[in-house]
Amino acid sequence: MQKDQLLTRRRALLTGAAALGAAGVAAALVPGTGNRAAPPAPPAPGAQAARRPLKPSEYRLRPLTGYGPPSATGSTPVRTEPLLRMSGRGRTMVLTFDDGPDPRYTTPILDTLARYEVRAMFFVCGEMAAENPDLLARMADEGHVVGNHTWSHPLLTRLGRRRIRLEMERTCDIIEKAHGERPQWFRAPYGAWNRAAFQLGAELGMEPLAWTVDTLDWTTPGTATIVDRVEDGAAPGVVVLSHDAGGDRSQSVRALRAYLPGLLDSGYHISVPRRQYA
Ligand SMILES: [Zn+2]
Repeated sequence: MQKDQLLTRRRALLTGAAALGAAGVAAALVPGTGNRAAPPAPPAPGAQAARRPLKPSEYRLRPLTGYGPPSATGSTPVRTEPLLRMSGRGRTMVLTFDDGPDPRYTTPILDTLARYEVRAMFFVCGEMAAENPDLLARMADEGHVVGNHTWSHPLLTRLGRRRIRLEMERTCDIIEKAHGERPQWFRAPYGAWNRAAFQLGAELGMEPLAWTVDTLDWTTPGTATIVDRVEDGAAPGVVVLSHDAGGDRSQSVRALRAYLPGLLDSGYHISVPRRQYA
């Protein structure tokens, strides 16, 4: 690709991000539910509270006037529940890929995202990132957001605080080295959050992000089933969970090729969330 074309593409991606802009990640009302409030469901492994309407105030980012940059301790709120979806106007969705990077699957996923000029989020594991720094560099070049998914993918609820901190911190460091920036987002393995994970994540400047639609692609249900789950779950603000490592993810790779053009044709804007600071 010519350099000027690359720049044009990069600019287009950045423009897309700017368009999302004020949306950020925060609580969102599920369209059509008439602003009905419901208590947040406790997060459980593999069973996030999908499509449940959330009270507008519940996960909204607090104004952070007077605090320092996101990396500074105290600038990130300590939450008691992870964010599940994006707020904002328009048909915006977020695609997230966990457990990688793995060149066998991450590379074709990046190729597909590049083909349609959309950006996504990759929640990487430190031990995978350490082996594939080139893929994190490519994610940076192409405007993707890299989040922290711990070093070795443990069940955090069984670990002590010191070990959790080590899992998170080492991963922040390797992401910064390979991607160029420290991560602003954290996702607990298996969606199993605890108080230490929220507190330590905030100390390290990361917001907890879960998901709205689980493709359950790790169960290898078939490419068509993964596509159906994404298409059935598609709605403004939805965050989709898939995997680009941790097993044979060729179905996830093929599914993306099928549903991504479909979502774009349906008018969805696929983008990445932006942290909001006053
Ligand atoms: Zn995972």
